[in-house]
Amino acid sequence: MTPADVTITFLGGLGEVGRNAACVEVDHKLLLIDFGVMFPDSTMPGVDVILPDTSWLKGRRSDIVGLIVTHGHEDHLGGITHLLKEFSLPIFGSQLTMELAKNKVTEAGLEAKTSFHPVADGERFEIGPFDIEVLPITHSVPESLCVILHTDQGVLVHTGDFKLDSAPIDGRTTDLERLEELKRGAGIRVLMADSTNADKPGWSPSESTIGETFSELFPLWADRRLIVSCFASHLHRVQQVCDAAISQGRTIFPVGRSMVNNIRIAQDLGVLDLPHRSVDSIENLRHYDNESVCVICTGSQGERNAALSLLSRSEHPEMTLSDQDVVLLSSHPIPGNELAVHSLIDTLTRLGCEVVHDGHAHVHTTGHAQRDELDHLYEIVSPEWYLPIEGEHRMLVRNAEVAIAAGHAANRCLVASDGDQLTLDETGLWVSGQVPAEYQFVDGLLDDLSPRLLQERRNLGEAGFVHVTVVVGKNNELVGHPDIATLGWLDKDRSVQVLAELEIEIREAVLSALDSKNDKEAIERVIRRKTGKFVGTRTRRRPPISATVIIAD
Ligand SMILES: [Zn+2]
Repeated sequence: MTPADVTITFLGGLGEVGRNAACVEVDHKLLLIDFGVMFPDSTMPGVDVILPDTSWLKGRRSDIVGLIVTHGHEDHLGGITHLLKEFSLPIFGSQLTMELAKNKVTEAGLEAKTSFHPVADGERFEIGPFDIEVLPITHSVPESLCVILHTDQGVLVHTGDFKLDSAPIDGRTTDLERLEELKRGAGIRVLMADSTNADKPGWSPSESTIGETFSELFPLWADRRLIVSCFASHLHRVQQVCDAAISQGRTIFPVGRSMVNNIRIAQDLGVLDLPHRSVDSIENLRHYDNESVCVICTGSQGERNAALSLLSRSEHPEMTLSDQDVVLLSSHPIPGNELAVHSLIDTLTRLGCEVVHDGHAHVHTTGHAQRDELDHLYEIVSPEWYLPIEGEHRMLVRNAEVAIAAGHAANRCLVASDGDQLTLDETGLWVSGQVPAEYQFVDGLLDDLSPRLLQERRNLGEAGFVHVTVVVGKNNELVGHPDIATLGWLDKDRSVQVLAELEIEIREAVLSALDSKNDKEAIERVIRRKTGKFVGTRTRRRPPISATVIIAD
């Protein structure tokens, strides 16, 4: 019997940072690896998140055997509730990842659509025809996994997000020995490696170096209240903040829904070593002096509705910031969030807070491998094929360059894109097909906001909106004045003259149209054309224009 081919389909994550989702096929069965979201930028008004494209999966519904999630970040896990609305499937991952997943799925009321299967470091298990092994790998959320697929076509390695941290907070280092063992055995055919930091030279500083900074900085603010913001999933960062604060006699106040939830989950699992007596609820804050408080909150990316933004706008019910506070952003803006973060820092500074961030202190380190780490992993794995994943196109290309610089043949590096299907067989790894991989925009409860609707929103945002209503009498005459309603186009009170001119033009256009025919739709077309021309000439703007003609009885 000839060995079964392996096909990998990328539904997202190859060409952008976020919405990571790969689908591996063996014997006509499909295994998903990650199903994350991507966050919108300013060109996507009203969009909450962007999902991987599932239109191809819908035609293969009965072939899906499960989803394995590499780690608990939103860009790998955040899409699961949307996935479960459409499909029923079991989910696999580390214990912490499963607890984070369970929290989301329960909140969405979708427990009946799935089951959760925690797997341990080094465990080898089967999902349908898939023979899987998971290895510990270091990243900026605890219990991240590197996924190994043992197939008839050899071993495939999917790193998930990773860095090579030799001194992680939990002592759980990347299992490079096992990767080396696999190489020395039958060898590794494909390495799929995180590209996020492939542009950055050198080796990323260990997470534990941040705790050293906290130990140096915190005593400088001994008599002031301390507010620290970081990702709620970055539990090793949370641990280090808590350690430094508690050693100063401070009590920890988690603020923000995901921070409160994640700290509770991590305490229960023992992922966070944090005595319950050292944590209190924000409602009790008023009973504490400044020097005994450390608030740890969400919102380090400037997210408008997160705790730190509410605090900066003095909209938090339990707490008001002032010049007695030090605010520490233990984070780095994700590309696209820079303006929001700078504006947040500005607002906090206006309130009198001392704001400390990674621009002037070593209060953050990345969770993604830089070039020397990618090179080191490459040397250990020495794959037959190198497949950069997770990143914008230029990052994927830069990642490929690392392998090529290490001596890898350029024709065995494959820089693929969203929607590509890659087949691994005896002849090698090659692009064998294409599936749809459009951005799937989520807006509130609407899971499929179309690109056309988004374009309409952009037009409205840029130029506003004009609507004209005209009433035509039964004797083919104009009744009253045309009514011109506008939103966001111009200020009606300040532009009385412009609107009066527009009204005259519409009136003349309608009267001349009425001379020839009394066709409602034709008159509406005339109004739209005339109004569009006037608006374009007078304001150099092209707002959407609509018209209604009412034929009076
Ligand atoms: Zn991650």
